[in-house]
Amino acid sequence: MIFAAIGFETTAPGTAVTLVQAKAAGIDNFQVLSAHKLMPPAMEELIRGGTRIDGFICPGHVSVITGSGVFQFIPEKYRLGCVITGFEPTDILTAVLMLVRQVMEETPEVQVQYVRAVKPEGNTLAQKFMNEVFEPSDTEWRGLGVIRSGGMKLRGEYSAFDASLLPGVNMTGMTQETDCICGDILRGLLTPAECPLFKTECTPETPAGACMVSEEGACHSWYKYHHHEG
Ligand code: SF4
Repeated sequence: MIFAAIGFETTAPGTAVTLVQAKAAGIDNFQVLSAHKLMPPAMEELIRGGTRIDGFICPGHVSVITGSGVFQFIPEKYRLGCVITGFEPTDILTAVLMLVRQVMEETPEVQVQYVRAVKPEGNTLAQKFMNEVFEPSDTEWRGLGVIRSGGMKLRGEYSAFDASLLPGVNMTGMTQETDCICGDILRGLLTPAECPLFKTECTPETPAGACMVSEEGACHSWYKYHHHEG
């Protein structure tokens, strides 16, 4: 059995616990193909590549695991504000207000709006399992290319469970060349409507890029809420 493991810091602890238990139980017919991703390196890549983003609404679910400190480099290194927020409409609106204040007052910092779920140190037990099983690795992100330390691969101690080491498995070069401009959209440089594939070849039913695949994606939301504007 090979488990195709995807997701961010939110889902990786579940994979990690499963592997720890499988190893302890001596399971020998189970492996993991890890496509887990790490959020902070991707955010830094967006900034480094050039962006019009004035501040980040940071993901509350990721931060529940990681804690708020992982975003500290953004105000310190790049002078951009961050607000970790929840998912209710009032959470988002409050986060936007907090970010606007940071921008207006030129006081970039990491603020936590989602205090009912996010602690500064995060979920240390989940972090322990993740760190025991995974180590950061360079990996391809759709629309962004290879991001240094943007992925999670199994540590050597878990190589017996690593499906990427099986003969014939190649985890590189999977991103197809298309006209998708997800990277520019994520950087705030272009809008989804400026993509030549938007609403033609790329729709929620036939997504051509990551921003349309996810219901949380910018192109998916644009399709849903700007449908009549084109
Ligand atoms: S509309 Fe589709 S192809 Fe264009 S940027 Fe968005 S996800 Fe990529």
